[in-house]
Amino acid sequence: MTDRIATSAPFVPLRLDGRPLAHKAALVFIGTLFLAASSYIEVPLVPVPVNMQTYAVLIVGALAGWRLGAITVIAWLAEAFVGFPVLSGGAGGAVHFVGPTAGYMFGFPLVAASAGWLAEQGWTRKIVPAFFGLLLAQAICFVPGALWLATFTGLEKAIALGVTPFIVGAVLKAALAVCTLVVAKQARRVTIRLRPHHLLCMLTYVGKGYTDAFCTNFDAITARLGGGEEILVVAGPDDVCAPVETLEGHHCHEASIVARDAEAAASVANLLGIPASEGARLTLDAARLTALRTAFQARTIRTACADCEWSALCDGIADAGYPDIRLTASV
Ligand code: SF4
Repeated sequence: MTDRIATSAPFVPLRLDGRPLAHKAALVFIGTLFLAASSYIEVPLVPVPVNMQTYAVLIVGALAGWRLGAITVIAWLAEAFVGFPVLSGGAGGAVHFVGPTAGYMFGFPLVAASAGWLAEQGWTRKIVPAFFGLLLAQAICFVPGALWLATFTGLEKAIALGVTPFIVGAVLKAALAVCTLVVAKQARRVTIRLRPHHLLCMLTYVGKGYTDAFCTNFDAITARLGGGEEILVVAGPDDVCAPVETLEGHHCHEASIVARDAEAAASVANLLGIPASEGARLTLDAARLTALRTAFQARTIRTACADCEWSALCDGIADAGYPDIRLTASV
């Protein structure tokens, strides 16, 4: 029996590692619209009203990851700097980057990056760590905010005016961000459908396959998997099979391939210590992929591969240390 491992999987559904630059640019643009719209929303809290800017910064970071999250916030601030009315109350212009509240804006990219980093470490999978993590990330902007404000008012007054009144709002915004992530997780529950033996095939996939359409589709799937998208394990033909499933003579429905799935499900479940049969849901991170590839190379999870026509290719790729593989986890 092989060693088991258990890891905390991240939830970063809008991280677009491996996707075209145009997709990332589109996400950044949409993110800046979201940040601008949130800046217009003011909530009448006591002792001071708060707007939803920081909530939006948290969400952008948590959903897009630390790099894309921070880039989106910086793009939004750039829009504000050149004069677009994207700040609170429709404000915009360079003057806002030298005024008393500029320090908070300088802290926003750090807030998004922190929220994104925590999400990539799996903190936003569960409600309690998500709440405290996002509260902590949000608190980061109080540091440059208060220090900058202190140059106008002195530190004591800066804390009294620029930190204390906003603590209640910060707690509520962290809670709202967690609720948003819970809803997002529910919306993303069914994502990539994989039959069990493709949990092995993806390990050695190097862009070779039955047809060009098969490879194009598999490339897209590996990019999504590498980004942490959830897998739903299915019986029979799956999202990888889709381009070839109906081709004449193809084996997607054959009993021998179904038996291969059963072997693979048992091997993967035994290794990772998680269910891997029909109906199981899992995500891949670097630790899980490393464990799978190590075991694959050692031939301890290869009973499913008996009689597979691709076996020699997969052996060679594994034995060579997995050069040119398409599936890499970004966390
Ligand atoms: S040998 Fe066949 S079943 Fe095994 S990983 Fe390679 S392609 Fe998949």
